[in-house]
Amino acid sequence: MSRASGGTVTTTRPGATSTSTSETDVLVVGAGPTGLTLAGELLRRGVRCRVIDRAAAPATTSRAMGIQARPLELLDLMGVVERFLARGLTDFGVSAYAGDRRLFRLNMELLATKGVPYPSGLLVSQQVTETLLFDLLRERGGNVERSKELVDLRQDVDGVVARVRRAGDGAAEEIHARWVVGCDGAHSVVRHLLGLAFAGSTYDEAYLLADVDLDWDKGRRDVCAWLHRDGQFAAMPLPGGQWRLFADVSAHAGAAAAPPEPSLELFQGLLRERTGDRTTIISRPTWLSTFRINRRMVDRYRVGRVFLAGDAAHIHSPAGGQGMNTGMQDAVNLAWKLALVARGKGVQGLLDK
Ligand SMILES: Cc1cc2nc3c(=O)[nH]c(=O)nc-3n(C[C@H](O)[C@H](O)[C@H](O)COP(=O)(O)OP(=O)(O)OC[C@H]3O[C@@H](n4cnc5c(N)ncnc54)[C@H](O)[C@@H]3O)c2cc1C
Repeated sequence: MSRASGGTVTTTRPGATSTSTSETDVLVVGAGPTGLTLAGELLRRGVRCRVIDRAAAPATTSRAMGIQARPLELLDLMGVVERFLARGLTDFGVSAYAGDRRLFRLNMELLATKGVPYPSGLLVSQQVTETLLFDLLRERGGNVERSKELVDLRQDVDGVVARVRRAGDGAAEEIHARWVVGCDGAHSVVRHLLGLAFAGSTYDEAYLLADVDLDWDKGRRDVCAWLHRDGQFAAMPLPGGQWRLFADVSAHAGAAAAPPEPSLELFQGLLRERTGDRTTIISRPTWLSTFRINRRMVDRYRVGRVFLAGDAAHIHSPAGGQGMNTGMQDAVNLAWKLALVARGKGVQGLLDK
């Protein structure tokens, strides 16, 4: 047995693989926006926590491209909203078109009041959001332990033992925590280990998306949506100059078939058909993807000392822009409750609310 720095203990029996053990108050599984928000908030409130993620590096695609009004208010309460506002687009409107005819424009700025300071939300890529949340975590003394995968959990009334495997050498570690929070996404291992069902359904609709350059003269203060009998087509300005194109291709895909493979040529055709625009050139794709929509949810967020938050607990249509946003709100909500209970200032029942 040898003692490593940071209170880690390594046990090796002759001929056996070594397993190190360590402890913390809260183990956060997953360093997406939910886990990063949770860990940052726990540290701000003085609760020891560790974050593990099985991925070797953060994701680099744009994915969720909006932080909505309420999460911005929460970032404001955390004292960091300005750094998010500085990296995104705000005060934008929504214009709806039929062909080249604009049907209406929603001016979100008009909704601003003292009680609703960020009515339009913020257009910013999830990659930037995660980078800013990670920077915040580092400033508060935390970090993400990468290439570490949760493989098993066992719990009793006093705590949880999480078994973690490191990629590469397969080294095993047992982390003893007072609580574990599964922020490990839609395919959550924590949820599977808890035996919780993820009830809901997959819809027939299929969508394509592309982050691209467009040589058109549309202003960058509008999300543009075209209503078309074959399905909606939309273009959203991304900070940095690109546009996110989004097309409902359910009519192409059918209920069971896979959506068509996204390509610049396909998008160029969809732009022409759905908007009537025959001159704009689409170029420099930085992300092309397809997705179908799931709507699923667990029937409880807590089993003993283990919690679920974010996509691990609920998944939605990206069309409403709720996935990342609800995950960040789950995290803020759980953090203050866990902090009170961890410091002995809140009753256990608070964690069920
Ligand atoms: C195309 C697209 C567009 C979207 N648009 C929006 C939008 O406009 N607005 C919005 O709010 N949301 C949107 N979303 C949804 C949003 O991306 C997700 O809701 C969000 O990423 C969920 O965050 P999370 O932290 O809960 O989970 P994730 O981001 O999935 O993070 C989970 C993390 O857990 C890690 N992990 C998994 N298993 C383990 C394990 N066993 N051990 C250790 N680590 C593990 C993973 O590596 C990952 O880093 C969109 C998604 C897509 C794909």
